[in-house]
Parts: sequence; C-alpha cells; structure tokens
Amino acid sequence: MNKRVAIIGAGPSGLAQLCAFKAAAKKGIEIPEIVCFEKQSDCGGLWNYTWRTGVDEHGNLCHGSMYRFLWSNGPKEALEFADYSFEEHFGRAIASYPPRPVLLDYLRGRAGKYAVRKLIRFNTCVRDVRYDYGTEKFIVISRDGQNDTEKIEKFDYLVVASGHFSMPNVPYYPGFEKFSGRILHAHDFRDARQFVGQEILILGSSHSAEDIGSQCWKYGCKSVTIAHRTSPIGYEWPQNWMEVPALERVADGLAYFCNGQSKKIDSIILCTGYKHYFGFLPDSLRLKTENRLATSELYKGVVFNPNPAMFYLGMQDQWYTFNMFDAQAWYVRDVILGRILLPNQKTMEDDVEDRQRSEEALDDDFARIRYQGAYICELSEDTDCHALDIDVAYKAFSEWKSHKKKGIMTYRDHAYKSPVTGKLSPVHHTCWTDAMDDSLENYMKDC
Ligand code: FAD
Ligand code: NAP
Repeated sequence: MNKRVAIIGAGPSGLAQLCAFKAAAKKGIEIPEIVCFEKQSDCGGLWNYTWRTGVDEHGNLCHGSMYRFLWSNGPKEALEFADYSFEEHFGRAIASYPPRPVLLDYLRGRAGKYAVRKLIRFNTCVRDVRYDYGTEKFIVISRDGQNDTEKIEKFDYLVVASGHFSMPNVPYYPGFEKFSGRILHAHDFRDARQFVGQEILILGSSHSAEDIGSQCWKYGCKSVTIAHRTSPIGYEWPQNWMEVPALERVADGLAYFCNGQSKKIDSIILCTGYKHYFGFLPDSLRLKTENRLATSELYKGVVFNPNPAMFYLGMQDQWYTFNMFDAQAWYVRDVILGRILLPNQKTMEDDVEDRQRSEEALDDDFARIRYQGAYICELSEDTDCHALDIDVAYKAFSEWKSHKKKGIMTYRDHAYKSPVTGKLSPVHHTCWTDAMDDSLENYMKDC
C-alpha cells in the first residue's frame, strides 16, 4: 500500500490509532507508512505531568493540564482496554481510582505491547498543515525542537489526535486587573500545596471545579467557594466549602456574587473549561465544535465531512475515554484501508444532525453515558476492534455516580467489577483523603 498517514499527537487517542494499524499488520494486512508527530518528549498526552506552564522547553504551547496528586475521577473499569486489562499490565488486580502515574504506566504498557514507539517522532511539533486539492495530499510542516530543524512532508491521510483539554477558556470579570492575589486557569494549576491556608474562589461547576476544589481542601486550604454560572454542583461539601451563584466582580480582596453576597478571597482558580484549538490548521481543515457528545462536522464522530481524507479522534466530551478512542481508531484505520466505504456527503452530514438530535433528547448523565457506550459499540461492530462488555462498564459508572452522591470525599474508596476480567477490584490500602503520596510504588504497595 503506497500511501502515507500522518497522526498528530501520541496521547491516548494517537496511541490507539498506532495500535489499530499494528493490529492489522499483525494479521498480515498491508498497512500504509505511518508517521506520528508528538511535541512532548514521551507518549501519554495529558497523562504526562509537567511542572511547566505557558510554553514548553521548545517554545511551543505547553500541552499539560494535569496536576500533581491527580487521581482518576472516574472508575478505571470504565476506561479499561478490552485487549489489555489492568491485571495483565500490573500482574494483579488493582484498586479502582488510580493516580495519574499509574494510569500513565498502564497506557505506556499497552503502547509497548503493540511496539508502536518507533512510529513516533518525539519533540516534534506540527506547526502548519495545508491541503493541496490538485495532488490530494496534506502538506505537513513540523519542527524537531531538539535538533531545531524543520521538515515539510506530504501525506495522503491526516489523523488529528491532539486533544481538546489544553487551550484554556479564560473569561474576564470586572476587577480582575486590580486583584492582587493569584488568578489562574485550571490548565496552569499544578500543586494544591500552593494554596495551603488560603481562601480560594473557583469559577465553574464541572469536573475541574469539583476536583481542584477537593485537592485544595485535601492539602489544607482554608476555604473553598465555588461560583456557578448555570447551576450548583450540589454535593454535600465539607464545612469550609460553599457554593454561590455567579461572580459579578472583584474589589479590594472581596468577591461579589450576583445574589448580593460577598466573600474575602486570596486566589481565584478559573475552572472554566477548554476550547477546541488547532493552531496548526487552516480554517478549511479546522474542526469547529462545542464540547459535546455528538460533535459537529464529524461523520461517525471521526470523519471530517469537509475533507474525508482527514479524521479527528477523541474530540467528544468524554465519559468513556481510552476504550472509546480504540473504537474510533479501529474505525478510522478501516476507512483508510478501504475496508469501510464512506457514504455520500449528504448522508455523512445527516449522520451528524441525527446524532446531535439524539444527544439533545438525553435528559440526564445516565442517559449520556449510555449514549456514548452505544456509540462505542456501534463503531466496534464495523471493525474487528476487541469487544468491550459495555454493560459492565456502565454499571461501574452508575455505581460511581451513587458513591459520589453519598460522599464526594469518599467515593474513591470504592471498587468495581472489571469489564475485561469480570473480577471485582480490590479496595485501595489507604482512603483517598489520607493518601498524600500518589506515586506508582506507593499505590502498588500491599494492593
Ligand atoms: P491528549 O491526552 O490531550 O493528547 C494529545 C497529544 O497531542 C499530546 O501528547 C500533545 O502533546 C500532542 N500534540 C498536541 N498538539 C500537537 C502538535 N501541534 N504537534 C505534535 N503533537 C501535538 N480521562 C479519564 O478517562 N480519566 C480521568 O481521570 C481524566 N482526568 C483528566 C484530568 C484533566 C485535568 C484533564 C484535562 C483531562 C482528563 N481526562 C481524563 C480526559 C483526557 O482528555 C483523556 O484521558 C485523554 O488524555 C485524551 O487523550 P487524547 O490523546 O485525545 O488527548
Ligand atoms: P468542562 O466540563 O467543560 O466545564 C467547564 C465549566 O466552566 C462549566 O461548569 C461551565 O459552566 C463553566 N464556565 C465556562 N465559561 C464560564 C464563564 N465565563 N464563567 C463561569 N463559568 C464558566 O471543563 P472541565 O471541568 O475543565 O473538565 C474538562 C475535562 O477534564 C473533563 O473531561 C474532566 O473529566 C477532566 N478532569 C478530570 C479530573 C480528574 O480526573 N481528576 C480533574 C479535572 C478535570 P456552565 O455549566 O454554566 O456552562
């Protein structure tokens, strides 16, 4: 097969694409030449922790949004690879909410199983992509930051797996410019111990707000105040924690909320979400979508309708992650290999509309989780992607929801059944609120 495929990003999505091609090659199927560009020095995407903020060591935008002491916020059973269980990787069953280094190790273990590393060009940032309609080739300009060299290459297919939780959405509120405390976005939050003894204000009411607030509380901030724009998160919070309506302004070290309340604050953390941002793409190739389950412009959630030689992975809002990226990657692989034929443009556009209509009819998170689970099954059915027991994964999600309701600081002390091995995971040796050491070694101790 005399074709070339470029993959941008070696995070969980990009790795899934590499594994998908390797799986086909193992079965004796001829695969195209593949080049994966990764601007970081190792694979794992967001799961790589970096102390850096702003720019990386090569002057590119710093990708990392994860922080020290981050533990999975959903059960690991819901993200487990169907072809590579946690038990296979670690040699035994492990508890259900691993900290970041444990999940990174697992991800890299799966990449190792498929021996995909040699297909990745590390420290290499894609700076620009153009499409030549005459030759039907993508022209990719990349820079190797270590050797400070530029390359211009041509590819027949382009897979964008560059993630969408890296470019912060940063709102302005009156008084920010005169506030003498620290104002930062969740993207730049690195270590909760910087906020010990402080009264912190968090804007936003989603996963980052809940988890960064919990981190700061766990490591000893004085109080947490969460201001919501739409609706409160609504858990039973610890005593020094409150939820208030939207922020109006900040003045003289006080935050004023739209119900007339005010509160002294030391730092403001903007947990206000992320933008789908592709600085290396021209408008004609750039995906424009909200952070939602049924993205705009993508047939089957992956094929870019304006140019079906181009694909996006992992661009949905995510309940499922690693296993959803597998289903997508196997599907994209089979389109590239010509094993799946795409329908006409109108059908592809209707597909997006249908998915969005169905998403809009969902009325709670349980329905949204089921919807994304059904999407994984739908894609997997068209390929030889290893089947995941989605009902068992869904059960882990629904128990997780009820555990969070019962105790927002204790939900991580529970364990769930693996959809891959069928075994109930062990309970972790230390309660999350007491577990200050998030290292792999400590996590594996006495598991
Ligand atoms: P990413 O992980 O973002 O990887 C994208 C890769 O592309 C990166 O390696 C980046 O360096 C590279 N890249 C970007 N631009 C370029 C370029 N121009 N050139 C070359 N390389 C480039 N999910 C869970 O399942 N459980 C969790 O507990 C969880 N916690 C999270 C916590 C935080 C704070 C955030 C932000 C997300 C979390 N997620 C979690 C969701 C996360 O999005 C997925 O787990 C996963 O990392 C997405 O994989 P990805 O490969 O699509 O994107
Ligand atoms: P998100 O889910 O997109 O939520 C963004 C929040 O910002 C929403 O509550 C939104 O409010 C609010 N917002 C947006 N603009 C605002 C404005 N101008 N003023 C006030 N509020 C505003 O983003 P996220 O919470 O950062 O989560 C991103 C991803 O990170 C998720 O996949 C999540 O699972 C992951 N994550 C995981 C962990 C972990 O595993 N431990 C920790 C953190 C994050 P509205 O509801 O009003 O729109």
